[in-house]
Amino acid sequence: MALMESWYPAATAQSWDRVGLIVGDPAAPVRSILLALDPTEAIARQAVAGPAGNAAPYDMVITHHPLLLRGASFLPTSDPKGAVVTTLIRHDIALFNAHTNADVAEGGVATALADLIGLRDTVPLEPCGTDAKGRQIGLGRVGTVPETTLGAFADHVAAVLPAGPTGLLVGGDEATSVRRVAVVGGAGDSALDAARQADADVYLTADLRHHPASEHLEGGRPALLCGSHWATESPWLPVLARRLRGAAADARVEVRVEVSTIVTEPWTSHRITQGELA
Ligand SMILES: [Zn+2]
Repeated sequence: MALMESWYPAATAQSWDRVGLIVGDPAAPVRSILLALDPTEAIARQAVAGPAGNAAPYDMVITHHPLLLRGASFLPTSDPKGAVVTTLIRHDIALFNAHTNADVAEGGVATALADLIGLRDTVPLEPCGTDAKGRQIGLGRVGTVPETTLGAFADHVAAVLPAGPTGLLVGGDEATSVRRVAVVGGAGDSALDAARQADADVYLTADLRHHPASEHLEGGRPALLCGSHWATESPWLPVLARRLRGAAADARVEVRVEVSTIVTEPWTSHRITQGELA
């Protein structure tokens, strides 16, 4: 928890957000950690099963998304969130999350996505302050790639984003040239104007809805790439795993850190629609 606080201070989370220890005993030993985007029942079951070749459950789960963002009055096992809480407590598994505090940080969700697609010279798209090392932090990142076309860049992004059922949508002329790129992992509607003001050629995010996206494109650049919420945020998990393993090695303690390969997207498959309008 202290390491997570040093990398992703809770004070840098949005005021509406909920970040930190959701379930668990802060004094309990941690020998194994499971990383996942969402605290779903499938992730709780994986936590109970424990690391491969180990009979014991994971000691700790770290997720990006909160479990109880909007508050809860009842947590019976008949409720999915209640089932997660009960399962974790029964098996003495802690649940911790870092959400908007992980979005804005260096080594966080936005920088993981920017690094994955090869952005250089990145700065926050919507700066919100500086971290302990004096680096600017904030929502999203904007940077540059070697000049290419939108079509080729979309192929590249699709090739490196984690495989999921929903894929990548392209909005714009694929022959248009791309050099300056803005990214926001997860739902990025709110930063459409910031991406335009940052003079980006293309904006990669997720969860874009029809009206904001089409009205934005009517207004001109940047072109849009819309991945899934899960695929644009989960690249943070291996980054976090490396940081945790590195910190454990530096402290000469043995902690097993694994990234869950369960795809916690709501969608399970994807079809190209082929009907006709007449
Ligand atoms: Zn998210």
